[in-house]
Amino acid sequence: MDIPSGSGSNDPEPPPRDDSPSGRSAVVAVPVPAPPLQQQPPQQPPSRYESQKRRDWNTFLQYLTNHKPPLTLSRCSGAHVIEFLKYLDQFGKTKVHVASCPYFGQPNPPAPCACQLKQAWGSLDALIGRLRAAYEENGGKPELNPFGARAVRMYLREVRESQAKARGIPYEKKRKRSAGGAAVGAVKVSVDGGDGGGDDGGGGEQATSSTH
Ligand SMILES: [Zn+2]
Repeated sequence: MDIPSGSGSNDPEPPPRDDSPSGRSAVVAVPVPAPPLQQQPPQQPPSRYESQKRRDWNTFLQYLTNHKPPLTLSRCSGAHVIEFLKYLDQFGKTKVHVASCPYFGQPNPPAPCACQLKQAWGSLDALIGRLRAAYEENGGKPELNPFGARAVRMYLREVRESQAKARGIPYEKKRKRSAGGAAVGAVKVSVDGGDGGGDDGGGGEQATSSTH
């Protein structure tokens, strides 16, 4: 039983050299090839989220460093977070139509327009979630977390509503699918608990019925 016969399996490697050929019962450590890793979740590797979170956090810290006047993390408030989100809009890739644009409320406009590109609400929402987690992982107190501030939540809700209207895409999760939905200008965004005061001041819904 002291002969490492490879236990019947045809291993591609040459038999391990035994340094005790005299037949002593030497424990031969046969180099076993690494077993296949079984701990990879099939859905989404956590490293991607973690690296994204780290990147976001560094971006925010960089933003604080460049802020004028200089801003430290401990003095950062929800208002500063909102400022940061607005600053990010210049890097956005989502077309958000103004109310006067003929494609206002159209998910798939047939032609380009001059409206601004902004950060999509979903991106901002996910970003805030990551930064909120990163803040606490870096020693911040939950009750002081500026990313969880009420003002930030309300700002995100505002962005969601305005982008839903402008792009004709209702961001609603738990609502049953509205029938049709192709009616121009009939995009109705009802947000539960709508206490966001003064939501659309001058954003009168234009029927955009001019087809030229
Ligand atoms: Zn437009």
